[in-house]
Amino acid sequence: MGSSNWRNRKARRQIRESDLPSGVPPQTGTTFNIWYNKWSHGTGPGNGVNNSHRYVSPFRLDPARDSGVTDSDPDCNTYCLYFARGCCVIGSKCKYLHHIPEINSDDRIGRSRVKDCFGRLKYSHYRDDMSGVGSFRNDNSTLYIGGISNALNDMSLKPIQIENRLKYLFEPLGAINKIRYLEDKNCAFVEYKWSINAEFAKEAMSNQTLLIPNDKEWNRRMDGTGLLVKWAHEDPDPIAKRQRTLQRQEESINLMKSILKEYNPQNSNISTTKGKEEIEDNSNSGTHSIQLTKKRKLSKENTHDGNENDASNNNGTTASPLPLISGYSSSSSSSSNDDE
Ligand SMILES: [Zn+2]
Repeated sequence: MGSSNWRNRKARRQIRESDLPSGVPPQTGTTFNIWYNKWSHGTGPGNGVNNSHRYVSPFRLDPARDSGVTDSDPDCNTYCLYFARGCCVIGSKCKYLHHIPEINSDDRIGRSRVKDCFGRLKYSHYRDDMSGVGSFRNDNSTLYIGGISNALNDMSLKPIQIENRLKYLFEPLGAINKIRYLEDKNCAFVEYKWSINAEFAKEAMSNQTLLIPNDKEWNRRMDGTGLLVKWAHEDPDPIAKRQRTLQRQEESINLMKSILKEYNPQNSNISTTKGKEEIEDNSNSGTHSIQLTKKRKLSKENTHDGNENDASNNNGTTASPLPLISGYSSSSSSSSNDDE
């Protein structure tokens, strides 16, 4: 957990090809259920919840055992989606990364804000149900966890036990700020320190059971539906918000420093405060940044995502560095995605 000794070994194949369903049969439903190897219309168990895309995954990533070096390019910063889901059949021959995203390594440098850690394009807005790849306008590090009863096959546990099980699953996937289980709503929030780990964990933990082999329900875990993992609206608590802002500023400054270093090696000794000033200056002069800020305002009005507190923060006199970094990285790498 959290160790980096994966660097000393080759990534293992997580499963054999023969473990995969033997080819996808003709489509007779809306959802392909990998466990049953059949299509379904969402007739699974659930208490009025739409389970049309839900099943229990037969695979799970074991970070301590599965992580290792692959045949990826030295500058590759894209993680293997199948690895995250515990079912990459290629192992060390894979062209993508097979380890848990680590901050303070080279992972972050030059990473595009418009793509997620699996190289998938993000969108300007969240989906209405907060599922999917997510928005490049929000550096979200908090996941909403639902489907908890179904992931336990309705076995009843104390709140602290549920929280511990969530901890057991989510903690090995990145540094956690906090995990909170809300008993009255029967849902949980997992806040990672870094959004990249949230992106990764969202894929790794979707459709996972909360049962463990000691449970008598373990053998019928496939009869339930796994965890529902979505993007959370951010914690409106002012202290949490301030922490987040500081953390992002620090992250943005570091990113900016690394970019400056890359383009202009003489500037490599820029101080932290200097870096911050430059970012803020940019916000007043860079047309691209202003455009982005405008768009961000518009999007806030249009989507009305119920996070007004956040909007006021972003529209304040001191612009959040986040959209500026987006502007910077998208203008330098892939400006065409900007209008998505
Ligand atoms: Zn792979």
